[in-house]
Amino acid sequence: MELRKDPITRSWVITGDDVPEVAPRSEPLCRFCADSPSNVQVVSSAPGVDGNPWSARAVVHPSPLYHIEGEPARRGDGLYDRMRAVGAHEVLVENPRHDRQIWHSSDREIAPFLALAGQRIQDLKRDQRFKYISIFKNYGASAGQEFEHPTVELTATTFVPRRVLYELRAGRDYFEQKERCVFCDIISQEERQNQRVVEIRADFVAFCPYAPRVPYETWILPRMHEAAFERSALGRQASVSDLAALLRRTLQRIRTITEDFHLVLHTSPNSLYRSDSLGYWKTIDDDYHWHIEIMPILLSKNKSYTFKEVYYSPVSSEAAVARLREAKVNA
Ligand SMILES: [Zn+2]
Ligand SMILES: [Zn+2]
Ligand SMILES: [Zn+2]
Repeated sequence: MELRKDPITRSWVITGDDVPEVAPRSEPLCRFCADSPSNVQVVSSAPGVDGNPWSARAVVHPSPLYHIEGEPARRGDGLYDRMRAVGAHEVLVENPRHDRQIWHSSDREIAPFLALAGQRIQDLKRDQRFKYISIFKNYGASAGQEFEHPTVELTATTFVPRRVLYELRAGRDYFEQKERCVFCDIISQEERQNQRVVEIRADFVAFCPYAPRVPYETWILPRMHEAAFERSALGRQASVSDLAALLRRTLQRIRTITEDFHLVLHTSPNSLYRSDSLGYWKTIDDDYHWHIEIMPILLSKNKSYTFKEVYYSPVSSEAAVARLREAKVNA
C-alpha cells in the first residue's frame, strides 16, 4: 500500500493492490478478551478496576494498514506526490469484557479507556514523523465493524486527514477575522438558542449540528475551549467521568433510533511538527477545539450515503434533538 495525494483537493488516499487480509468478524475465540489464548502485541495497558487484569489496552492492529518502521520517503512524480504508508495502526480495547460496549458500561469502566486514548495520542505525538492521530469506531455491519469485541481503532499518520484539514483551515480563517474560536462561538449560540442541544453534562455538551450530514448526527465537545483531546482526557478525573457519562448516554440515545454508527474524534494535530507552508499551527491552540462526531447509519435513509457530493439529511437537527432528548437512558 502507498499514499497518494490528489493534486486538486490535496487529500491523501491510501491505495495499492496488496490489501491486508481482514480477520473474520466471528472468530471462534476472541483475540481481545482478557482471557484469550491468542497473542496480541500489547502497546499499553491501563490498570484494572473491579478485579479485572486491566481496564483498557492498546494493541497493534492484527492486519495494519500503516507500518511503524521507516521514513515516509515523500517524493514527487511530475505534479503528483506519493509516500510510503508509514504510521501506527492500533486497536484500543475499551473493556476486558466481550459484552461491555460503552452503552452497557459504567462510567468507572469508560473513564480509564478515555484516559488510555489520551495517553496514546500524547505518546504518538512525540514521534515527529506523525502529523495526526485519528481515533474512530465503526459499529455494526453496515458501518464496516471489524471486531466483535468492544474496540476503537487508532491510526497515526504522516499527513492530516482531509476533513480535519478543512476544519483546521476554517478554524484558522475564522480566528483571523474575529480572534475567537468558531467552535466556542457555535457552542455559546447553541446553548443560548437551546434548539439543538441534546444534553449538557458539567463541562461537556452534546448537540446536533445546524447542518447535519446524516440524520441524528451528534457532536460532543468540551464547553470550555480546549484544542487537544489528550489534555482533557488526562486532566481532572471528575471531568473525565462526566465525559464518560455524556458519551455513554448519547450513544444510548442514538441506539434508540439505530444500532449502527460511525464515531470519530477530531483533535489538534501534532504541533511538534511545524509546517511553514500550511500555517495553521501558529494559532492552533486558540482556533481549534476538539470534538467527537457520531454519524448514525439509518439503512432506510441510505440515500444520504450514496449521494455524497451534497449531504442529504431528511431529518432536521431540531426534529432529531426532540427524539434524542426524550430517549430513555440510564442515569
Ligand atoms: Zn472479546
Ligand atoms: Zn473553542
Ligand atoms: Zn470535526
